[in-house]
Parts: sequence; C-alpha cells; structure tokens
Amino acid sequence: MTPDFDVCIVGAGVIGLAIARQLSRHYSVLILEQADMAGSETSSRNSEVIHAGLYYPPGSLKETLCIRGRELTYPFCQQFDIPHQKTGKLIVSPSAAHPELERLQQTAKRLNIPLHHLDSQQIKQMEPEVAAAAALWSPETGIIDSHQFMQALQHQAEQAGALLVCRSQVTGAHSSGPLWKVDVETPDGPWHIHCRAVINAAGLQAISLMAALEGINTHTTDTSVHTNTRIPQLFPARGHYFSYQGKSPFRHLVYPLPEPGLAGLGIHATLDLAGQLRFGPDVEYLDQHTAFGPSRYAVSADLRSQFAGAIRRYWPGLDENNLHAAYAGIRPKLSAPGCPAVDFVITRSDISTPPIWHLLGIESPGLTSALAIAELIEKKLAAEIG
Ligand SMILES: Cc1cc2nc3c(=O)[nH]c(=O)nc-3n(C[C@H](O)[C@H](O)[C@H](O)COP(=O)(O)OP(=O)(O)OC[C@H]3O[C@@H](n4cnc5c(N)ncnc54)[C@H](O)[C@@H]3O)c2cc1C
Repeated sequence: MTPDFDVCIVGAGVIGLAIARQLSRHYSVLILEQADMAGSETSSRNSEVIHAGLYYPPGSLKETLCIRGRELTYPFCQQFDIPHQKTGKLIVSPSAAHPELERLQQTAKRLNIPLHHLDSQQIKQMEPEVAAAAALWSPETGIIDSHQFMQALQHQAEQAGALLVCRSQVTGAHSSGPLWKVDVETPDGPWHIHCRAVINAAGLQAISLMAALEGINTHTTDTSVHTNTRIPQLFPARGHYFSYQGKSPFRHLVYPLPEPGLAGLGIHATLDLAGQLRFGPDVEYLDQHTAFGPSRYAVSADLRSQFAGAIRRYWPGLDENNLHAAYAGIRPKLSAPGCPAVDFVITRSDISTPPIWHLLGIESPGLTSALAIAELIEKKLAAEIG
C-alpha cells in the first residue's frame, strides 16, 4: 500500500510546527491538530523567554537542547523578522554570598555561557528599583513573540508542502506492515490516513496519546504498569501570570534565584515586546480533572497578595493595586510535587513497529528548544526511514 504521507505529526504547538518545518524539506508531512487553530495551548501560554541554558542538569536533554535551540532561535528570528529582543536578565539574590550564585557561575563556566556577577551598586545602576545584595547578569537571555514564531514555522512548513489540518483529533494508530494507520476524529466524522512514521507532539496529552497508540491504559493506579511499559505519569502544574498596569520600572528581565526543589524558576518579571511588564508563573499542581477541564486556564484574583509578597522580595516599591490577573499555562511535568525535575523524554517505544517518536514532558525550556528538538527528530527519523 502507498502511504498518504511520509510523516504524521500529532499536535501543532511550537514543537509540532518546528518539527513539521524541519521534516517537510525531505518528507511529505501531515500535521493533525485537535483545536481550531495551531498554537493555542501551552505554546501561547508561557513567559516567551529565550533561555540561556543555565538551570538544567549537566548533559540533560533540557540543557543541550536549550543551548542549541537558543543558538538556532536568535538567527532564525533575525532572518525571518520575528520580533525578539536580547534583553538580558538579572538573577537577583537577597544575600551577597548565596551558594546558588556560585553554583550558577560554575555552570556558566562549564558551558561557556556569559554570566557576570554584579554587586548592589551595579544592580542599582542597571535597575534602580530592584533591591538585591548581589545578582548575576545573563546577557544571552531574551524574549520572543511566540505567536509570530509559530506563524513563521507554520508558513515555512506549508510552503515546503506540509499540510496542517485542524479540528482533527488523533485517537489511535495501528501498525500494519511498514505503515501506520492513524485514526482521526473530526466534526464531520472519523477518517484515517496511512503514513510511514508518527511523531507524537501532543503536549499535555502526549502521555495519554502514547498509551492510546500503544493500547495501554495509563489511568491505572498500578504503578508497575507504568514501569513495565515505560509510560511516565503526568503531573500537570499550572503557572499563573499577573500583568502590571502602568509603565514598567524595569528594562531587563528580573528573576529571583532558583530555590532548590522549586518546580518553577520563581515568580519573575518579564517584559513583552511592547514593553508591558508581567509577573509569573507560580506553580500549582492540578488533578487530571482540572487540568483538562473547562476552567483549566482560570487565574484567580485571590492570588494577587501571594504574587505581591513574592515580587516585593526584589521590588519593595510595588503597588499591589497595579497587578491584574492575566493568563495561565500548564506545564506537562513528569515529576511529582517535591521531587526533582525530570528531563524531557523523547522516546521510540516499541522498535518492532514502524517509526513512532513520543515527545513527553516538554515543559520549559521547550519554546527555546523547539528548533533543536526538530533537528534531533530529523536525525532520528533519517536513521530509520532514510
Ligand atoms: C507557565 C509556562 C511558562 C513557560 N515559559 C517558557 C519560557 O519562557 N521559555 C521556554 O523556552 N519555554 C517555556 N515554557 C515551555 C513551553 O511553553 C513548552 O515547552 C512548549 O510550548 C511546548 O510545546 P508543545 O508543542 O509540546 O505543546 P502545546 O503547545 O501544548 O501543543 C500541543 C498541541 O497538541 C494538540 N493535541 C493534543 N492532543 C491531540 C490529539 N490527540 N490530536 C491532535 N492534536 C492534539 C493540542 O491541542 C496542542 O495544540 C513554559 C511553559 C509554561 C506552562
């Protein structure tokens, strides 16, 4: 049987779109997206920061793909006129000799990423409103318009012949000989396509989709099932944002020092490309029901005083009345509350089937890493289908 497409990509977030752009140069590509449009989930609900790559365990996928992704993303933005700015970022410390300052400096040295120590006087010159005893200045950090980034990826994929079909939910796939038969549900009824390879880039739903594609139930409470099948468990963690009404007192991104065991980087100050200041994200683990329910992206105004407390640690002059509930995104975490962060998982499960790659736990720095993840998938696929 002739395949309809070489590759079927499930999910048109930034990861699926970046992979589609990369693969469409050599293969025929179909992207299936269950929502009305591309990029409407996690990829448009984040801090839009291009990370330097300082925070991740040595040699992890998060570290290597973040650094490679950053190296690819800035030139991509320049070449294709994607609004972005290398704003730089201050990582501020309440004490002059915090062990985390030293640890980050060692990481920067190991990775050859520029990072400069600043004393309180230098901080005042750079950001007069920030109160901190010491800081690290990361000039490689920046911001990007995630929407225009995704539009460019989609446009380039489509120009190379890729087809994006929205309102199409992948519900299963079965291997038959060298091909996959992929089952798709649409408002007009079910259909299916045949392809040579499947890429599962379904974000928060990637784990449940992996189970559906493999015919395994992830909703069991029997943990041995996860171990045997190597399907990890999802711990969705919502991050809320508050926007700041008024002129931003900051010109750079301002982050607190990461606290060990914290599931995020701490409530930080980021700017969008219009100069609008926003704060977030915090970390709230959700049960599965809430994570996939209609109010999953709700931001309660009650969080305001909690945000104000965290922000005042580095900006004592904050007027809390200027904080307004803005938006939320959900991290597809693979680590339970209080447990160390888990790396990205990019896995080819059953090697007896035609190629199928699952991208699991693509939380931050996924936006920064998107172009590098696409490169990696292209290499893996080329090794299998040529
Ligand atoms: C609060 C927060 C802040 C972040 N900040 C940053 C940051 O500053 N910098 C950074 O580098 N990264 C950041 N990230 C991480 C980054 O946003 C993600 O890693 C990235 O957006 C993941 O993209 P994705 O394509 O995997 O997922 P998504 O954008 O969620 O896309 C997956 C798509 O798959 C579709 N889908 C799901 N199931 C199916 C199905 N069965 N059939 C068809 N379609 C399906 C969904 O509708 C969705 O459109 C942040 C994340 C969060 C939550």
